[in-house]
Amino acid sequence: SGYHRVLEENRKLYNQVQDLKGSIRVYCRVRPFLSERSSYVSTVEHIEDGNITISTPSKYGKGCKSFTFNKVFGQSVTQAEVFSDMQPLIRSVLDGYNVCIFAYGQTGSGKTYTMVGPKDLTEKNQGVNYRALGDLFVLAEKRKDNFRYDVAVQMIEIYNEQVRDLLVIDGSNKRLEIHSSSQTGLNVPDASLMPVSSTSDVIDLMNLGQRNRAVGATALNDRSSRSHSCLTVHVQGKDLTSGTILRGCMHLVDLAGSERVNKSEVTGGRLKEAQHINKSLSALGDVIASLAQKNTHVPYRNSKLTQLLQDSLGGQAKTLMFVHISPEPDALAETISTLKFAERVATVELGAAQVNK
Ligand code: ADP
Repeated sequence: SGYHRVLEENRKLYNQVQDLKGSIRVYCRVRPFLSERSSYVSTVEHIEDGNITISTPSKYGKGCKSFTFNKVFGQSVTQAEVFSDMQPLIRSVLDGYNVCIFAYGQTGSGKTYTMVGPKDLTEKNQGVNYRALGDLFVLAEKRKDNFRYDVAVQMIEIYNEQVRDLLVIDGSNKRLEIHSSSQTGLNVPDASLMPVSSTSDVIDLMNLGQRNRAVGATALNDRSSRSHSCLTVHVQGKDLTSGTILRGCMHLVDLAGSERVNKSEVTGGRLKEAQHINKSLSALGDVIASLAQKNTHVPYRNSKLTQLLQDSLGGQAKTLMFVHISPEPDALAETISTLKFAERVATVELGAAQVNK
């Protein structure tokens, strides 16, 4: 059986390398028109397989521009359909992989809808976060004769380059540091780590997290669009025959709005916010560019966000970037800049170099 295990390990490593070869997977989702604006003409001209064509009318006439991703989801694709495409990725957390899914796009493009769901949350319209955990529980239950799994979650927010725990009950606002703890394997060791064993545990904690996030929102005028929030799921699995422990971790990140802020239009606190958002999103861009160029030095330390995601962007992690666009003509400039950024991300070869090292 030792021989068997070695074969199994080799197969795993092989699959891992195969999986990682490509690049960061990039999915694109188009938000439907919000009802009050349904008379507008969509800038999305055509979607086919992984291609999306945007019409770019200008004073010189009608133009268009196409982009290619691993998948493109049109306006009518449901939450369940979106999730079913991500399911294998999420399930690999139980096999000990690190997974990172982040939602990118301008404010209002549907990032929170994808990750969490709309305000009137039902079982049918709930987003990736709930479905991912629900799925992990179902699969863990199926494997219970061979493995024992423990699942725990953390939820934090990064706002103005400060990290806050969203799972505190007393609303305390302690600043947290990001650094890997070798003992626990946590990279925000001081954030609350809550064990969960059912979907209802998850719903309670997500509600707590949303409430803690919203506290800042009223005071600071829709702060949630200017902060990054991250739900991290830690899974520890024990192989009941061999006693081997597998650890997997998944970051589910709802990024701040990617819109460029015109510096002449904001001052004071708003300007500081804008600079911090731009800082961490541009640090993310720099990390991705440097991974794409296979640089030996990757500038993870330039922002809290890239420090947090370090394990999930380099190394042997599986990463999915979910880009969101709005279909309205007045969003065209942001839509094009979002899709250009996403196309750059799609060229990153993750991990392969590290695996072969
Ligand atoms: P963001 O998080 O990018 O700022 P939201 O997720 O808040 O954007 O989406 C903006 C609005 O559009 C919300 O009212 C949301 O419920 C709605 N919305 C977004 N995506 C969809 C979708 N795929 N289907 C239906 N409504 C959506």
